Amino acid sequence: MSETITAISTAPGEAGIGIVRVSGQSSKEIMKRVMTNFPEELKPRHAYLGRVTDGKEIIDEAIFIYMESPSSYTGEDMLEIQAHGSNVALKKILRAVLDCGAPGIRMAEPGEFTKLAFLNGKMDLSQAESVIDIIKAKTDLSLEIAESQIEGRLGNAIREMRSNLLDILSQMAVNIDYPDEDIEQVLNDDFSNQIRWVLSDVEELLDTTSIGRIAREGIKIAIVGKPNVGKSSLMNALLGEGRVIVTDIPGTTRDTVEESASLGGVPIVLIDTAGIRETEDKVEKIGIERTEQAIASSDMVMLVLDKSSSLEDEDQRIIKYIEKMDGERVLVVLNKSDLGSSVDEENIRRKIPGVTVISTSLVGKKALESARKVSEAVGKMFGLGEIKPSESNIITNERHTKMLKNASMNLNDAINLLQDGESIEIAELSVHYAYDALGKIIGEEVGEEILNQVFSKFCLGK
Ligand code: GDP
Repeated sequence: MSETITAISTAPGEAGIGIVRVSGQSSKEIMKRVMTNFPEELKPRHAYLGRVTDGKEIIDEAIFIYMESPSSYTGEDMLEIQAHGSNVALKKILRAVLDCGAPGIRMAEPGEFTKLAFLNGKMDLSQAESVIDIIKAKTDLSLEIAESQIEGRLGNAIREMRSNLLDILSQMAVNIDYPDEDIEQVLNDDFSNQIRWVLSDVEELLDTTSIGRIAREGIKIAIVGKPNVGKSSLMNALLGEGRVIVTDIPGTTRDTVEESASLGGVPIVLIDTAGIRETEDKVEKIGIERTEQAIASSDMVMLVLDKSSSLEDEDQRIIKYIEKMDGERVLVVLNKSDLGSSVDEENIRRKIPGVTVISTSLVGKKALESARKVSEAVGKMFGLGEIKPSESNIITNERHTKMLKNASMNLNDAINLLQDGESIEIAELSVHYAYDALGKIIGEEVGEEILNQVFSKFCLGK
């Protein structure tokens, strides 16, 4: 008799309902034992109102749903007991299920229901991983990407690449011992070309990883500038546009403030380096140090300058530091444009090539419009407008990235070997490695170790 697993599948805490889930051959037997009014003729996928008992007392009233293999999430027989969302009641129900005497029953491991779904062929590994991504999605965009992945689009793209590689591999196998050297070179060129096609598909996916990371983690923005230029005003204006969460994240540099806002479904984490001035002497050192730290840990910098007065030493010092950065990741905000214009914009552009410079006025009527301008500039810098998860695959998972890089490296190796006139036999090995690496994304070639690693990220009951 195989094992039957159970867990509380809903989050702890008070809620309208809470669910205990069971998967395995004993599901029906368990329902019989813990339900006071087990129906004479049990219809799968029907909701039955009943009472849960541990044999001694009634624990709660609940809806019982029995699902028969293979028409269930895991592909096995399953039972769902939907009771009231009380921690105590749910734990008692779980206990009753575990102690009811049905054969092979035990507590589920985190992610085990989804692992079963994968092992029983209900979904490929990339789809199973998107279940975690959906549960853990913190942004609209990452949810959208995960939803598109659970439909299996990434898996389909990977399967197509693998099928092309398999095609190449079988042609290679036939031609491995070709005796004629001239023909061999023609063949090598032909194989290189075919491999190049697959490689370009792999690279297209790899190109989406930076946008994938942004969708997952958001954009971290350091707002820097000397006091009184309008950093807090800028932060408030941006937060006012789409405030989602406000957090003081512990462990970050003291006196810096981190807050999150949403920009087209992508979170932006703003680090304001305000409040760093304490005493006159220590000031500059501490100030610059904190600013440097904020810059180093961010995806981009917003340097706020007072447009109405000429640049001072402190501005110059910060600019000097930022000059080292990639200008594509720097937005200079010339604030207080309502008070005049004393800053040489061209000079800034010269110092930080590639920089985006915009003028703002963050008080009064212009504040909203200015905030929108800043948001748009950030969106443009990161190509946010171009992300369309419903139309193309976006790689958000680091394991997938690793496997794609592995495939890309091996396909490149194969091409180079063939171009160098090496034997097809040697190149074939590289193509094979690439084929295996892609397979790992969908779970075709994975060992127990990878599976455990993937599913350990799940919560209990999923
Ligand atoms: P921070 O020290 O850099 O955070 O600067 P604040 O945001 O606290 O702003 C300093 C002062 O400048 C406040 O009195 C703001 O009202 C004012 N201020 C901010 N932005 C503008 C602006 O665009 N125009 C004008 N005239 N005043 C501004």
